[in-house]
Amino acid sequence: MTLGKRTLVPGRTILKINLFIIGIISLLSVTKFGNPVKINISLSGTFAELRPDHFHGGIDIKGVEGTPVYAVDDGYIYKLESKGTGYGNVIFIKHQNGFMSVYGHLLAFNPALSAHYDKEAKKFRKSNLAVFLKKNEIKIKKGDIIGEIGNSGFSFGPHLHYEIRNLISKKQVNPLFFGIKVKDCAAPKWKKIKFIQVDEHRIPRQEKIIQLDDNSYFKVDTIDLFSGKNGLAAQVFDVMEGNNNKNGIYQLKMLVNGVLHFHFSANKIPLHETKYANALIDYKENKKSKDIYYRCHRLPGFNAGKYVQFFNDGFFEVKEDKMTSIEIEALDYTGNYSRKKIVVRGQKRYLPPLPYHDYYVKRTINNVFKTYFIELKIPKGAIYQNIPLRYHELKETRKETFSRIHGVHHEYEPLHKDIFLSVRSGIIPDYLKEKAFISACNQEGKFVNFGGRWRKNFLEGYVDQFGEFSIMVDTIPPEIKDLSFKSFPGRRKLVKIQFQITDNFDLPKSMDFPFYKVTINGEWLKMTSDRKSGVIIGYLPENLKRGKYELKIVSWDRMNNQKQYVKTFKVWG
Ligand SMILES: [Zn+2]
Repeated sequence: MTLGKRTLVPGRTILKINLFIIGIISLLSVTKFGNPVKINISLSGTFAELRPDHFHGGIDIKGVEGTPVYAVDDGYIYKLESKGTGYGNVIFIKHQNGFMSVYGHLLAFNPALSAHYDKEAKKFRKSNLAVFLKKNEIKIKKGDIIGEIGNSGFSFGPHLHYEIRNLISKKQVNPLFFGIKVKDCAAPKWKKIKFIQVDEHRIPRQEKIIQLDDNSYFKVDTIDLFSGKNGLAAQVFDVMEGNNNKNGIYQLKMLVNGVLHFHFSANKIPLHETKYANALIDYKENKKSKDIYYRCHRLPGFNAGKYVQFFNDGFFEVKEDKMTSIEIEALDYTGNYSRKKIVVRGQKRYLPPLPYHDYYVKRTINNVFKTYFIELKIPKGAIYQNIPLRYHELKETRKETFSRIHGVHHEYEPLHKDIFLSVRSGIIPDYLKEKAFISACNQEGKFVNFGGRWRKNFLEGYVDQFGEFSIMVDTIPPEIKDLSFKSFPGRRKLVKIQFQITDNFDLPKSMDFPFYKVTINGEWLKMTSDRKSGVIIGYLPENLKRGKYELKIVSWDRMNNQKQYVKTFKVWG
């Protein structure tokens, strides 16, 4: 491993050019924003990190819950949103200079913004909504406290998700370009690399994973590979002082025999291209073990933006009895880098046969497959490469299952678009038909409810994954657990109430849960929800007069099984 600041390597014009590019970028970013927090900045996530289904759109700043969050510049509130998933409680501020700043996973908005949000929520009697504001309806000054650091939405530990968007180019931009200083003296760390041998259609035929020894300086390893076309994927992450997070790197390069074949740079990501992260991450490795490998080659369906450059699409030819030299370099934003050099020795050519498959699915056409029991439509552009698709019927029987169980390929293949499924039902009583849905059994053994519509004996709909599908039935309502009333005090003061709502089936990632309504003596009450725990939290109105009250919670699931929970309580003055 090489530690230290970036220096020019004589004879490496590519490196020189990159230094030049970095220079230009820093000249261009004359726009300076303030810091969104006044604490020491420690990152638990970096810009454009590879995540399933998206490039990370901002930076994650660690902090304890309740830490104030400041507006980074003058502007006005564009949007306030509260969800149990995604960005959770989030504020969008538009600025004069053509940028928008985004502050996600907040614990709370400031009192003025809260009041505005609550007013809108009450109008629509809906707790989770997106409130769009008129230009200059709520003006913000640089340095105003707008909210507090929290853990709301799809967040697993308190932090601020801070994001900058260019409103004209519709791109997410690395927030570190705007003047935030992060102390980082540690170079990125290599874990493993993977060689992927492909055929003439670039379908993977064989993989070889190699552990990299991080204690060696520029170590030269010789690796034997079958000759033929290969691509490489690298597991590498950045480390920073003060935390144990494995962050994404800023730049990654691969040179083959001295020629640049791949260059990724975490500068800007067009919002509409963010799902292509599925093609740059080794999706299978991530699904199997959460490992993050950067593919240094282009999957055919990856229509790369300017953040990735390829030569020969990043593939290289390993020749029999010849040596191929591969250099990989990872750089963090501060300029710390780490390099590896690997030498590959070409063995006698051998291409393993295509894996056993039932259909050969092409990326560039609309694919339709039909059996007596199932119809599957994979639209053009839904997959990143042609796939030898495995289809089989599972032998096992499951409770509450009203069809055969269909194994449609596997969860490890990423999708860019939803695919269509039509599943023939077995014997299902009519009264249960409205409680039936297309279910996917995922690797944790959980069943995901993908909904669906009946067309004669078929239940059909869209799913966002491959996997095991069947028709299942849900007649069991959610459970409501009281987390607050044991200690409920009889006083007028603002009192926090919380409940936990759980259900027997899971929902697709894009859907928020729980579905619920809370009223006090029939008056609607705003709550905030958290999808990960199912906890909903609310505050009793301050002005409750002395008397008897009835608090009612109604919750329902996707199949409209309802549960009600009623609690009466007294307020005395
Ligand atoms: Zn984030």
